[in-house]
Amino acid sequence: MTLTNMWFSLRLVFFVLEWPALAKSSKHNSFKADDAMQMYYMALAMDLDMPSTVKPLPGPEVQADAPGRSLPNFTTLTSPQRKTLNDLSDRNRFMDTVKAIAIPRASGTPGNLKVQQHIVRSMENLCYDVELDTFEADLPGNLTSQQMTNIIATLNPDAPRRLVLACHFDSKYDKKGAFVGAIDSAVPCAMMIDLAHTLNPYINCTPVRNKNLTLQMIFFDGEEAFVKWSANDSLYGSRNLAVKMDTQMKDLNRNVTELDKIDVMVLLDLIGSKETQFRRFYYSAKYHFEHLANIEKELTVSNDIKEWDNQTKAGVDMEEKEVIKEKVYFDTTPLPAGLWIDDDYRPFMEKGVKVLHLISYPFPAVWHKQSDTVANIHYDTVDDLNKIFRIYVCEYLGCQI
Ligand SMILES: [Zn+2]
Repeated sequence: MTLTNMWFSLRLVFFVLEWPALAKSSKHNSFKADDAMQMYYMALAMDLDMPSTVKPLPGPEVQADAPGRSLPNFTTLTSPQRKTLNDLSDRNRFMDTVKAIAIPRASGTPGNLKVQQHIVRSMENLCYDVELDTFEADLPGNLTSQQMTNIIATLNPDAPRRLVLACHFDSKYDKKGAFVGAIDSAVPCAMMIDLAHTLNPYINCTPVRNKNLTLQMIFFDGEEAFVKWSANDSLYGSRNLAVKMDTQMKDLNRNVTELDKIDVMVLLDLIGSKETQFRRFYYSAKYHFEHLANIEKELTVSNDIKEWDNQTKAGVDMEEKEVIKEKVYFDTTPLPAGLWIDDDYRPFMEKGVKVLHLISYPFPAVWHKQSDTVANIHYDTVDDLNKIFRIYVCEYLGCQI
């Protein structure tokens, strides 16, 4: 798929902030600066998926060294400790979690409520403090307003700092009511619940290095557009919650908002197909992305991930095994300046929250197709990522394994 095609088919926003730099960029052979400018003006003229109110995003230096926020401080788990975390994978448990979410669940439908209740129950059973953010969303055109609910699950609400993992639990509205959105985003939701489940003994029962720091999981409603992706028809849940958390002050210290408590928000989206691959967009938290990439490298060398033949017993020949080993989930190759994809992180980033946008790019082939089903989930890929995220979260929180 070329970038030009993607411009028309995806909700990809190509904002040319530094387009002359593109002319010098030889990394991306598939397009040239002239093409980029042409696409940009065409999009403006045709009012394509280009939110009119989108502002230029802060550059990497703003994200890396935002005032008042220190650089992340990761502990390093030993190999046996990492092995303990790796062994927590359970295919049946994970797939059961996905299946409970992968039903038609567009905002405002009975399926949405059912999934909402499932997520709340799952997180409460794991001792998370669960808060609901229910609000009335104005929909475009003649559509009547719609009630939506974000779910915020916090392990220790008294902790002054949070590592936030986030995803959206609504599915795209379709007239037939048959779209189940497995990668979009039942799998990311299931990954978060599975992470909470597997790490529960280590986070809840053992002293955490820094008790000032806790884990918060946010499940957004209303990410999807009802008619056509635009600034006003998308991200309903995250837009509402970012404003609320920006003004909510629950502590005695009245100067600290709920947003101020977020060290970083890691947003998971479009995960679960065999081609899942993340890129570091220029606004994305550099050190967090690099840490994930390092964990991936180390687990690959120690043969703890990308060992698909062992897991499936399918018998993979040596050549295929090499291809799997060379696969990279966290690709640190620089992207052209100004390339970004709109998503639930944006309302938070515009309010100064450090974000890490982990969305598969290019988008998987099943994106927004009826074929985005549980049958098309590539479990071995998801399991590799689950292992990487377990270590990442434990090393950030300083869990004792
Ligand atoms: Zn979607």
